[in-house]
This record gives sequence, C-alpha cells and structure tokens, in this order.
Amino acid sequence: MALIVQKYGGTSVGSVERIQAVAQRVAKTAKAGHSVVVVVSAMGKTTDGLVKLAHEISSTPNRREMDMLLSTGEQVSIALMSMAIQELGQPAISMTGAQVGIVTEAEHTRARILSIETDRLERHLKDGRVVVVAGFQGITSLTDFEITTLGRGGSDTSAVALAAALRADLCEIYTDVPGILTTDPRIVPDAQLMAEITSDEMLELASLGAKVLHPRAVEIARNYGVTLVVRSSWTDEPGTKVVSPIPQPRSMNGLEISHTVDAVEFDTDQAKVAMLRVPDRPGIAARLFGEIALQNLDVDLIIQSIHEGNTNDIAFTVTQNSLNRAEAVAAAIAPALRTTADPASGEAEVMVERQMAKVSIAGAGMIGRPGVAAQMFATLADAGINIQMISTSEVKVSCAIDAEDCDQAIRTLCDAFDVICSPVKICNSGIAQGLNANQTLPANTPPVRGAALDIKQAQLAIRYVPDRPGMAAKIFRLLADHTISVDMIIQSQRCRLLHGVASRDIACTVAQIDADEAQAILQRAAMELGYGEVTVDRAIAKVSIVGTGMVRRPGIAARMFEALAKQQINIQMIATSEIKISCVVSEEDGVRALQAVHTAFGLSGRDRNDQAPIEISKTQSRVHSDSA
Ligand code: ADP
Ligand code: ASP
Ligand code: MG
Repeated sequence: MALIVQKYGGTSVGSVERIQAVAQRVAKTAKAGHSVVVVVSAMGKTTDGLVKLAHEISSTPNRREMDMLLSTGEQVSIALMSMAIQELGQPAISMTGAQVGIVTEAEHTRARILSIETDRLERHLKDGRVVVVAGFQGITSLTDFEITTLGRGGSDTSAVALAAALRADLCEIYTDVPGILTTDPRIVPDAQLMAEITSDEMLELASLGAKVLHPRAVEIARNYGVTLVVRSSWTDEPGTKVVSPIPQPRSMNGLEISHTVDAVEFDTDQAKVAMLRVPDRPGIAARLFGEIALQNLDVDLIIQSIHEGNTNDIAFTVTQNSLNRAEAVAAAIAPALRTTADPASGEAEVMVERQMAKVSIAGAGMIGRPGVAAQMFATLADAGINIQMISTSEVKVSCAIDAEDCDQAIRTLCDAFDVICSPVKICNSGIAQGLNANQTLPANTPPVRGAALDIKQAQLAIRYVPDRPGMAAKIFRLLADHTISVDMIIQSQRCRLLHGVASRDIACTVAQIDADEAQAILQRAAMELGYGEVTVDRAIAKVSIVGTGMVRRPGIAARMFEALAKQQINIQMIATSEIKISCVVSEEDGVRALQAVHTAFGLSGRDRNDQAPIEISKTQSRVHSDSA
C-alpha cells in the first residue's frame, strides 16, 4: 500500500461543503489501505483578507507579525478538515508546521525549508490516522519556535517537501482546474490540459506566471524525484504528471538551500549578430527572425534591450558556421529598416562578433535567490572578464563572453560555486541544450508546451552604466542584498560615450511590489557607481512561451514575433533561455499578446494532437469564476 501526500488549495477547501467533499476523497483513499498525509491551504481568499487587514494597520507591517497573522489561515483549515474526516469514521489528526517540525530559515514571509522531522508524522500514520498538516508554514528551529511562512502560494512547496521527506510514493496537488493547461484558462478559455510536462518546463512556466504550481515545489520534486501530479478537486480525472529526471542522491538536510548551482556549462561555438538602431515599432523582430528562419538558421540567445528615442537594438547568437549567413540576412534587411527609422536617431547598423562563448550556471536551487546571478557576475568581473550578453531564467544564468576568456571563466565559476563535477560542454549538434546528458526528448515533443503571462512585473532602466567588468555584479549585488529578485536582465548593445566614458544601458524586470524600493536603492548608488538616471515602467506585461522541444528547431522565435506583429503589438524587450522566449509588451496588450501567441503555436483546442482536449463542465466554470 502506498504513502500518498494530497494537497488541497484554497478554493478546494473554500466552504464547509467543499471541505466535506475533500474529506470524502481523503477517507476513500485511506479506506483503500493507503497512508495519507493531507496538506491544506487557508480557506478561499482568507490569506488575501489577512494581508489586507494588516495593511489597514500598517503600510509596512513587521514581517514576524505578518507570519504570526498569515499562518492562522491554514490552522483553521486543518482543524475543520480533520473534523470532517473524523465525521466519516476515519481517524485523523491535524498538525501545524511547528508540531510536525518543519524547520525553515529565519527569513520571515519567505522562508525556505531546511528540514522536516518525520517521526511524529510516521507514528500517527502507523496508528492508522490521516495526518492533516498546515501548508505554507514552518518554524525557525525546534527550540525557539518562531513561526515562519514560505511565501504566497507556498502550500504546494510544503506538500512536495513533505512527500520528499517521507519518501512518499505520490504527491497529488488538488486544485480548481483539471491540471496543468497550455496556459491560464482564466485568460484563454480554450487552453488545453496536458497529460505530462517535464519539471524543467514547469519550472519555467511556474516562474513566468503560471501560478498553478509554486516553482519551489517543482524544484523540490525535481531534486528529490518526487512523483508529482496536479489534478482537479472536483473530478476523478488523472490530471497532469510533472516528470522529473532521475535525481542524484541528496541529503534531506538543507532541503531547499543546498546545491544552489548543480553545473557549469559552456558552449564555445557561438557568434553574435547585433542590429543597432532598428525602428521601435511592431513587426521588426518578426521580420528579422522570419528571414533568419527562412534560411533555416537556429538562433540561440535573443536579446532586445530597452529603446531610447525611437529605436531598439536586437542581438542574437548563432553557431560560428552560421554567422556569415545570419550576418547576410541582417545586412540585407538593414536598408529597409533604415528608410523607416527616425532619421534623427541615425541608421540601423549590423555588428558581428565571431568568436564568442557562452558560460552558464545551472541549478534549480537558484530560484528566488537573487544573490546567485550577482555572484556569477562578480566572479567573472574579478577574473577581468567582460560580459557581453546576459540571459537569465529561473534555473540558469548565461553570459556571452569572448571565446578566449572561456577556460578561465569555467575555472573560476566551478571554484566559486563549488561545482566538483566536470563542466558540461553544450553544443548544438550534441546534447540538446536545456537537457542533461541522460535526458532525451521523445520524437513527438511539441516545440512549445505552454505559454504564460505575468502582469506583476515592472521594468527598471539604468542609463549610462560604465562599460567595464564588474558593473553588473555591483548593481545586482545591491538589489540582492535587499532580497530583491531580478528576472530579465538585458544590457543594451549600443555603447555611448558620456564624458569620455563608454557606457551602456541596463534594463531588468523586478516584481512590481519591489519596484519602488529597487529604484530608490539604485538611484542612491548612482553617483558612486557612475551611472545615470534609473527609471521605472510599471505598465508592462511579460508574455512567454516554454518548451524543451524548441531546442534546435529554427523558426520558433520568428513565429512568436509574427503573432505579436499581426496584432500590432510592439515588443519592448526580448529575452530567451534555451527553453523559453519572453517578450515584454505594454500592460494593455498583455492579454491579447498571450492569446495571439497561444493560438500561433496551435495550443488551443483541436490543433493539438498529442493531448486530449478537456471539457470544463458548467459546475467547474462556476467554481472558476467565484474564486477569481
Ligand atoms: P490553489 O488555491 O489550489 O493553490 P491557485 O489559484 O494557486 O490554486 O492555482 C490555480 C490557478 O492557476 C488556476 O485557477 C488558474 O487560473 C491558474 N493558472 C495559471 N496558469 C495555469 C496553467 N498553465 N494551467 C493551469 N492553471 C493555471
Ligand atoms: N494560503 C497561502 C496563500 O494564499 C498559501 C497557499 O495557498 O498556497 O498564499
Ligand atoms: Mg496555489
């Protein structure tokens, strides 16, 4: 008989009737002979209500008191759930995070789990009880009992961490949708259910705005090989399986904090094409990458920085033997762009860099840990290596550098991040990028698995940053020291002289709630670090596509940009990693952008032949809307 962890989200336990319905499912599982640990969230929108109350009293509530307050929501749910299960004749007991012994860092409101005691849990399970555990919470140590919470949406993380610690056979996340869909069904009603998704893809989707799973939960599942399924609380349909590679053996100590970086990767076969001063209007990226795709050239990184005046810079990398063809394409369309560019801002210009290398640090442990990217930049800076392009995803930071600096970069990065296994050479014809050596892609892997929209980000622009090693390190260290996580980081390609110093702009995105603080911190340091103004744009949306199948398939970026161009949507920033492409657009275009991209990749309805279409019944739709 199996040990199963079942997690029920806020909507699933949002009323007495729903708690009773969940209790039925739990009791049925237990009666079938399984040991069951239930993890529950606070009822409905309780946590939102508590946050609002706190803000009515203080604009900057004390974080410890916030945890004291927010942890009460889950305590209500566990008691009621336990009673409901007992009413069905099934022995059950509720436990808070502290009673279980879920030990976390002392970081209030965003603590990571360090370890989980399993003795008490296992004793109750052995005695035939269902144990109902409060999600989202822990304590700082088994002696001082300071209550912590894991960050919003953290009950998923509690559930998967418990499953890892108990070596459960299965972790089921029950929620208000039938599983993981190609995108958020609230925004795109014809989004389709997937039978499976890889943990790498889900990590990206979760961190790009798909809140159906907390990214840290996916990280733990991936690191500890937890069998993870997302399914509906209202039906018996199987839902979506999140598939992880076979994990390396890991200790349960420092559960969420060990192994920040798993590997250092490099690719010495990169060349860069940059187009400077292309017009800032819809359709330009589509045109450029459409032509590149026609030549069947595979593009790796693509970066478009913030615009100044009426023009943008777009840079991308290809393999060195594709460079001539890529350069020719860019040069051929440059004159056409020239005629339409604002004459005052000069002409579009093509620049190439033949011998580049890409070095990356990879590891799910860097999620939400802003200091890791900063440490990478500092390590390269200390070795005197200039970073030409930066590309970030939740689980990887890649820097394009001069090819001749590659060996030294690898050495210093392996040292800095304690990576003992050999660096992984990535090449376009060899191991698929974004996959480790022991992962292969099934032949029918769709190029794009899903799409996501994030409207909770803001864009920061830092103007006139001196172009010398160490600047990115200093800037992102400053933000990291204030625990501000940065998402897209883009340096402009264009170098400008200010008072005789070569400088570039750097743009990045941060969570909207951090935007003011980030701006203030950066502006305060402007004099000392020698850069100019720091501006914020809050009215942005980030639309992204994710899929391991996009690796080595030309034309994916072009198709995304064309879909946006057809809707006359202007792209403000572009950033890619191996398995994702993200575009920043204006906030008002966000929903339309997501819909257009979702359709363009055939993710809606009948277009998908690898996945069975799902139907959301009327009752389910009602459940949707009342929790929206
Ligand atoms: P719970 O309270 O059960 O934890 P959440 O509200 O945190 O539920 O997450 C479920 C919600 O995630 C869904 O109602 C849906 O609107 C949203 N969502 C966003 N992207 C996706 C996606 N790709 N697939 C499924 N749901 C998604
Ligand atoms: N109740 C918490 C929240 O609303 C945790 C969770 O639901 O996952 O963020
Ligand atoms: Mg959730």
